[in-house]
Amino acid sequence: MHGVLNQPPGFGERDLWRDDAALREALLREGAQGFAAGVAAYGALAGGELLALSHDAHRDRPRLRTHDAGGHRIDRVEFHPAYHRVMELAVAHGVAGLSWARPEPGAHVARASLAYLHYQAEPGTSCPLTMTHAAMPVLRQAPALRAWADRVSACRYDARDVAIADKRGVTLGMGMTEKQGGSDVRANATTATPSADGEDAYVLAGHKWFMSAPMSDGFLVLAQAPGGLTCLLMPRRLPDGDRNGFTLMRLKDKLGDWSNASSEVEFQDALAWRVGDEGRGVATILQVVMLTRLDCMLGSAGLMRMALAQALHHCRHRSAFGKRLADQPLMRNVLADIAIEAEAALALSMRVARAVDAAAREPRETAFARIATAIGKYWICRRAPTVVNEAQECLGGAGYIEESLLPRLYRQAPLNSIWEGSGNIQCLDVLRALSREPETVEALRDEFAAARGLDPAFDTMAAGLDDALAAADEAGSRRLVERLALALQASVLLRARSPIAEAFCRSRLAGDHGLALGTLPAGVDCVGIMARAMPG
Ligand SMILES: Cc1cc2nc3c(=O)[nH]c(=O)nc-3n(C[C@H](O)[C@H](O)[C@H](O)COP(=O)(O)OP(=O)(O)OC[C@H]3O[C@@H](n4cnc5c(N)ncnc54)[C@H](O)[C@@H]3O)c2cc1C
Repeated sequence: MHGVLNQPPGFGERDLWRDDAALREALLREGAQGFAAGVAAYGALAGGELLALSHDAHRDRPRLRTHDAGGHRIDRVEFHPAYHRVMELAVAHGVAGLSWARPEPGAHVARASLAYLHYQAEPGTSCPLTMTHAAMPVLRQAPALRAWADRVSACRYDARDVAIADKRGVTLGMGMTEKQGGSDVRANATTATPSADGEDAYVLAGHKWFMSAPMSDGFLVLAQAPGGLTCLLMPRRLPDGDRNGFTLMRLKDKLGDWSNASSEVEFQDALAWRVGDEGRGVATILQVVMLTRLDCMLGSAGLMRMALAQALHHCRHRSAFGKRLADQPLMRNVLADIAIEAEAALALSMRVARAVDAAAREPRETAFARIATAIGKYWICRRAPTVVNEAQECLGGAGYIEESLLPRLYRQAPLNSIWEGSGNIQCLDVLRALSREPETVEALRDEFAAARGLDPAFDTMAAGLDDALAAADEAGSRRLVERLALALQASVLLRARSPIAEAFCRSRLAGDHGLALGTLPAGVDCVGIMARAMPG
């Protein structure tokens, strides 16, 4: 027998809203005060019931059942009941539909806050939630798809595998990636042949190499129509309730993201309806991808926040060499550095959410959202694995053990960078915007000008960026995009008068920092930064 000593108490139920000063400030700053009560309620739910459910949803991974007892093909994925409960709560609280259900200023910022909170509790379900949310701009384009749009904004989860007319709410997925090319979707070989079933109806033949959330009610699919690559909506069930003509070949055996199913699929004359013009598939799907990329940023910010909260909690209670870890100068440097990274990620993500909110009214914000999404997706998603790993190490061996949340966060961390356009693709997209859409350059310049004079390191960097923007080239684009991301983060933090702004500029802009985290320069108020981020 032995007594258990020096082990921190369980992380327990948390109110993720109340614990997160940076989120509360960002929500107000970016204009969503009218939604604060709903987001606050979701913060309590996310840190309580959702976090508890997430363990089952991840441990009991989805299973593909190809046939029923009689040998009929059913292609159904079974999830643990916890998965459905998480989806039900998330959809009802607006994670997939608030911006469309209440289309008022601030709605996108509020939904972004919900997505950030949700990701901390249960990242796997974030995939179907974000795809459902992001499909709306495309669904709205086709009057024939009105029933789908109405069911997204209904904010109701209905897991029954029945035809759309019988559903109270729907979820949507996306099928773009094929074996021969994912980033370069122009290489898609799946064909869409006009069908006699209606003016905009087509039949699909071919495959998709990745198609997540395969129990979704509909999928936005790219395929080669006679006029070129085209976007189509492929329902899971046909209007008469029959199975549509596609089969799930297998589920991917993934590094992480375990509560979410990702499938390989083959189409055998699956019926689908065209959205947008033939040959305009990339332009059409880009409206979706802009929103899913923002959620990748928010998701990575959420992962960093949850990893930080775990590390702070542990180090506050654990002692080594006669002193609490949180009181050791070197550990303080690590924890404060992680806190800076997490808050900077959230700040930029929420700024982009405001740009999405304002895009309908302000062309400059449309241009800002266009370029800042690619910049932020590249940088914030890239930082997440490093930050999560550093937080993991703060727990020592416990951070490598499944009972702590850290291994799950660590497995999830690389994913946002890979899907929805991997890192290099984001950098090339930034170059494309800079060269073809001059209004995006102006939007960046405005954003930097707004913070001029607030910090000398920022001023120096912003001045240098003018030349760098003019000299952008493909091989050097990661360096450029990294600098743009840091300058954008600094601009938001400085204008917000954030308590971390000065330390961010000294360490990230002035170069007073090493290659690893935990290398903040002397004089940074690590204790104050930790106190701001400390979960209650
Ligand atoms: C868990 C999971 C779920 C997924 N779910 C879906 C889904 O639901 N729907 C869907 O459509 N897809 C999905 N994907 C696929 C994902 O979006 C693609 O894997 C991703 O877009 C990259 O495509 P690829 O795998 O074909 O890699 P490739 O396109 O072959 O790229 C490989 C690498 O080369 C780089 N690269 C490509 N072109 C260039 C270039 N010109 N210059 C420099 N570098 C370049 C890329 O950045 C990448 O790093 C999912 C992936 C995962 C891992």
